[in-house]
Amino acid sequence: MNPSHPGDRRESQPLRPTTKVLTQGFDPRLSVGSARPAVFRSSTYVFPSPEAAERAFDIASGRAHIAEGEGTDLIYSRFNHPNAQILQDQIVNLEADATTALAFNTGMAAIMTSLLTFLRPGQSVVYTIPIYGGTQHFIQDHLSKWGIAGIPIFSGRGDLLAAAIASARDLGAVLLETPANPTLVMTDIREVCDAVAALTISSGETRPLVMVDNTLLGPAFQHPLTLGADLVVYSGTKYLSGFSDLLAGIVLAKDPALTKKIGPMRGLFGTILQPDECWMLTGRLPTVGLRMTRASKNAQRIAEHLAEHPKTSRVYYPTLFTDPEQKRIFKAQCDYPGAMFSLELKGGKPAAFDFLRHLQIAMNAVSLGGVETLACHPKTTTHSGFTEQEFAQAGITDGLVRVSVGIEHWRDLLSDFEQALDAI
Ligand SMILES: *Cc1c(COP(=O)(O)O)cnc(C)c1O
Repeated sequence: MNPSHPGDRRESQPLRPTTKVLTQGFDPRLSVGSARPAVFRSSTYVFPSPEAAERAFDIASGRAHIAEGEGTDLIYSRFNHPNAQILQDQIVNLEADATTALAFNTGMAAIMTSLLTFLRPGQSVVYTIPIYGGTQHFIQDHLSKWGIAGIPIFSGRGDLLAAAIASARDLGAVLLETPANPTLVMTDIREVCDAVAALTISSGETRPLVMVDNTLLGPAFQHPLTLGADLVVYSGTKYLSGFSDLLAGIVLAKDPALTKKIGPMRGLFGTILQPDECWMLTGRLPTVGLRMTRASKNAQRIAEHLAEHPKTSRVYYPTLFTDPEQKRIFKAQCDYPGAMFSLELKGGKPAAFDFLRHLQIAMNAVSLGGVETLACHPKTTTHSGFTEQEFAQAGITDGLVRVSVGIEHWRDLLSDFEQALDAI
């Protein structure tokens, strides 16, 4: 055994996330000395003795608690498996203040499993909109059937959000997605956490959880747990994966008691991420910051140029915010502006469709966060389930095009956008 290998390193000095993700949370000795994790595809695990099997089931079912220093035997891969464990132990290093993580099959599986763990019939959940379409659908059309009331609040209305938190009946959770997609309106995470912390909770009741969907700016540029949030959720399909070739979801927390409650629900629902996908995503983690930083720098240059273009009437991007409150939140909450922007084109839907049709580098597809640039028309695709009133309040117009900028050379991308604008 080599005492200096990464598995033995202890936190004598605080390391930065980019170093930690390459040195902590993976023990090569458990992968026959392999410098990078191996894949363990097995669905079931052999016990060293019948007594060990009995003990493993007692612990997994909650009948017994794991003793200090005791290891748990793996049982069956719907509950846990080595590649989920490695992914979770490594991704914790990227999220500021996180101590614990869970990997899920998709972002939706992470959101659904977490909400169903904590919410009870009769409770309500306050959430910002626009929020991811699947999340809105789940709250409005499914949680409602189980007696859980969704209370949507438009992003950018901190006053209404605070009022809803103060007045909601038996509030179980507050779910924030910031910045909001596609116009990037921001919600002040700390303000929301303070409002929840200020609620008077009668004995026997628990304080509502603050959950933040950090997919658009995390883990590199926005750190909800440091601002008081309880849970951070991701669609790992986006920036964490970065290549538009796998689906995944992640939940992170500062307090392990929270993931200890969600973990058994994941085992019951079968929403754990498969071994191959865990292994792929683990391999992407050391480059998340590099990819996001390059894409954000690209997006900033392109968005600021396109804001001057005669065929755009408005570009939505954090460095182009004009509202003082939005500028304040961006400055307080985000390290970088990120790699998403939206263009409001003069000429409505025909102009937007012409623009998309003429793109040669950027591809017309939904989703985001990949190294390749994607563009879509939110009103007829990602947000097509909205009502007219929701379109109006969220600023989703006929001429709006959303862009997820990748890591191509920014000058090539800018030329592509300019030639597509000229072709309208
Ligand atoms: C894509 C996305 C989701 C859903 O994630 P899946 O991996 O597709 O299930 C949730 N939230 C946000 C912000 C997303 O962009």
